[in-house]
Amino acid sequence: MKAGAHTEALHGKEILIAGGGIGGLTAALIMAQHGAQVRVFEQAATFSEAGAGIQLSPNCSRVLHALGLAEALDAHGFLPRGTQFRHWRRGGLITENMLGEDSAAKYGAPYYHIHRGDLLSILLQAAQADERIQLVTQAQVRGFTVAGQRVTVELNDVPATLSAAELCGDLLLGADGIHSKIRELLWGPSEPDFTGNIAWRALVPATQLPSELIKPVTTVWWGPHKHFVHYYVRGGDLVNCVCVVEKSGWTVESWTQPGELAELQADFRGWHDDVQQLMAQADPNSLFKWALFDRQPMPRWGQNRVTLLGDACHPTLPFMAQGAAMAIEDGAILAACLAARSGDADVDWQTALERYETLRKPRTAGVQRGSRRNAKVFHLRGVQAWLRNRAARVAQGATVDKLYSYDPLSVVEKSDAEARVTRP
Ligand code: FAD
Repeated sequence: MKAGAHTEALHGKEILIAGGGIGGLTAALIMAQHGAQVRVFEQAATFSEAGAGIQLSPNCSRVLHALGLAEALDAHGFLPRGTQFRHWRRGGLITENMLGEDSAAKYGAPYYHIHRGDLLSILLQAAQADERIQLVTQAQVRGFTVAGQRVTVELNDVPATLSAAELCGDLLLGADGIHSKIRELLWGPSEPDFTGNIAWRALVPATQLPSELIKPVTTVWWGPHKHFVHYYVRGGDLVNCVCVVEKSGWTVESWTQPGELAELQADFRGWHDDVQQLMAQADPNSLFKWALFDRQPMPRWGQNRVTLLGDACHPTLPFMAQGAAMAIEDGAILAACLAARSGDADVDWQTALERYETLRKPRTAGVQRGSRRNAKVFHLRGVQAWLRNRAARVAQGATVDKLYSYDPLSVVEKSDAEARVTRP
């Protein structure tokens, strides 16, 4: 059963989702596209995302397009021409890969830069317009019980508008982020790993910058123990900056922790003049910093009628710009795995969930490890940095091709076809 097409494969099934971030809302849309009834429980009072940018590569934008969101993404996103890696002080080009209009031709889907708030609004509007999706806010999931064919969630406060029956479903999906309660309930408590890096984020109004300063590409400045990334969002009106620094002793993990411009400027003192100009124009109200955490790949994600998705099961450092992309891919493949079993008289959810993990774990673990590796590679110095720069000219193209050409909409179908060929 191909994901992306409207089907009724999950008609009559009820899917509960804990967490309404990018992963949870996208999964809700995909499950509904297959005919399921979906309830999303979000702990916050509103569905919202931080005021920062996000890169959506073709491997995930093809899923969003299949949900009918192309027009909205085109209207709010920015299409970069590629990625350029530069020397932190001299500014010389180390390597680049080209995207732009070629991305759609080469990979079958565009590469977008978009404001997170815009992306979440696009997903939210689509979910609100779908009568099969019920969105519940101020609904923090604190537990679940599985009895026979049904799973029931326990909320900290049950909204008065919600009936007991609406807390029950056929499957519970934990899309509740790096500190996932569902993961903890399944596998026990464990703390994420502090990676020794903190990240600044800032937005700069493009009109305040000299017109040729920021090229229509993602620019990644590689320097010793630090790197600086910037790209356009909101159709080119804003420049989003992510500035990563190796630092110990400060481990606040929050998207809303304000930062001081003077500290950011001190962190990048001596860097190229373009970087200085960007920092000087940063909107002080958009300046935040947070400590970067991740986890080792998990041996198992779910059991029985409960599984995980996105940062809940594979939180990933941002150094391949793939965390949200992996969450979006998860949703497409989980839905296809469930839909593929829907022809069975009694849908075999356990088999479908095991297959979902088997298909997903190698890829998500590879991206987790690759992102950790990049944390070191981006920050090399001296001879090691020189060797890296030479190698990067060859390695970049191969890495992005493998990432971006992945088609989550046909993975299950392809693995079915392979199984038919190899069956005696
Ligand atoms: P989250 O976004 O964490 O959403 C979880 C949701 O669950 C939240 O709304 C939360 O309120 C809710 N929740 C939590 N607990 C409960 C509960 N008990 N009950 C109910 N609700 C609950 N990825 C990319 O693909 N491209 C990029 O360019 C990129 N850049 C990044 C830059 C930085 C600096 C960082 C830190 C990350 C970046 N990422 C990027 C990664 C990406 O942001 C994450 O992987 C992605 O947001 C994870 O989505 P999620 O839905 O799994 O989790």
